[in-house]
Amino acid sequence: EEYVERTYEKIGKYDKYTNAFITIRSKEEVLREVKENINKGGKLAGILIAIKDNISTKGIRTTCASKMLEDYIPPYDATVIEKLKKEGAVIVGKTNMDEFAMGSTTETSYFGPTRNPWNLERTPGGSSGGSGAALAAGYVELALGSDTGGSIRAPAAYNATFGLKPSYGTVSRFGLVAYANSLEQIGPMARNAEDLALLFSIIAGPDDKDATTIDLSLNFEFKEKNVKNVRIGILSDILEMSEKPVSGMIKDVIDKLSSEGALIEDTKLGNAEYALPAYYIIAMSEASSNLARYDGVRYGYSKYMEGNWREVYAKNRGEAFGIEVKRRILLGSFILSAGYYEEFYLKALKVRNLIKKSLDELFKKYDILVSPTMPILPPKIGEVINDPVRMYAMDLNTVIANLAAIPALSLPAGFYNDLPIGLQLMGKYLSDIYLINISSYIE
Ligand code: GLN
Repeated sequence: EEYVERTYEKIGKYDKYTNAFITIRSKEEVLREVKENINKGGKLAGILIAIKDNISTKGIRTTCASKMLEDYIPPYDATVIEKLKKEGAVIVGKTNMDEFAMGSTTETSYFGPTRNPWNLERTPGGSSGGSGAALAAGYVELALGSDTGGSIRAPAAYNATFGLKPSYGTVSRFGLVAYANSLEQIGPMARNAEDLALLFSIIAGPDDKDATTIDLSLNFEFKEKNVKNVRIGILSDILEMSEKPVSGMIKDVIDKLSSEGALIEDTKLGNAEYALPAYYIIAMSEASSNLARYDGVRYGYSKYMEGNWREVYAKNRGEAFGIEVKRRILLGSFILSAGYYEEFYLKALKVRNLIKKSLDELFKKYDILVSPTMPILPPKIGEVINDPVRMYAMDLNTVIANLAAIPALSLPAGFYNDLPIGLQLMGKYLSDIYLINISSYIE
């Protein structure tokens, strides 16, 4: 009772400033479930968790931070939610995000931006910014996000928390509202490495409802290791592209790791400058196709039913999608149209392959690759949102892992004044647990 009371008091007092939640469940309902679940047991018996609002929750509104789904209540749970419930977790609310997970600052939300608890003038990163802020503000200890090109790691970095973009196929996407299927994964967000490991072990695993999941033989044992003799490659090309306070902080961490016996070497990804355009071409193409389902008829915003199909479609979509979503639908449709497909989409797939290959080579020499998570400090609210190209450029370091399907983790590296800076670790495919172990030591 005290735990639930305390949580609601904090949220009641401070979320009017942070705006981390789109939907907060009623305290009575949550308290009842917590009491029930404590008696039933499970790894998360009675523990409150915040869920990004693009993950389907039975009976709880799931908006994707869009006017299009403002009143949508899913009739089913995502697989990850079923797994959490089996372990006794209780959803406290659904967190704010960029509309349909398109953005890096949680400012494209129909429900207004989330503010960074460390500095309310700054963004908490995105698109899972509500989950990141909910952790940093101390509303919850555990949260779920989704990561298509950095959406778990950006908020982890900017909120001084931990976030893992799992290896592709380790976590079911059933019930995740699709943005770009070939890139995205649901992943754990937490305030320390141990909680991250626990949450990941619960949500991971094969699922008949998602044919891209794999039967993994991951050993979830969480044991703290040291970095002695760990072969660390520093992505120096990426490091040098970062803002000074960021690269300076990351270099300090690297020096510390070196003094603790890690084998540090400067290296380069090669083709790094092509990762970002390739990512955006692929992501927008998949988005334009995925978002075609919001037709103003079957579900979602459906204000206009008069006229022919074209008019109904255009009017409802025109009114219910925000500007960033429209931009991506237009660009994605253009890229996929006859004649341009070879020029853009096919080329992007080739770049994706090249990046995978250079990473394969690097992982023969290194156990982990290190870089800043974000190339810049958390931007001020309003600073990048009207300049899409600048916003896209924030994802320079994070999209690499999504293109290559490998795991990537962000952990706190330190602060520049009151602004958090994140360190990114990338590992080879299925080295997720290893990354978490290493992160616990660096922490
Ligand atoms: N900022 C990137 C984008 O807008 C990544 C978002 C995400 O990971 N969902 O596509």
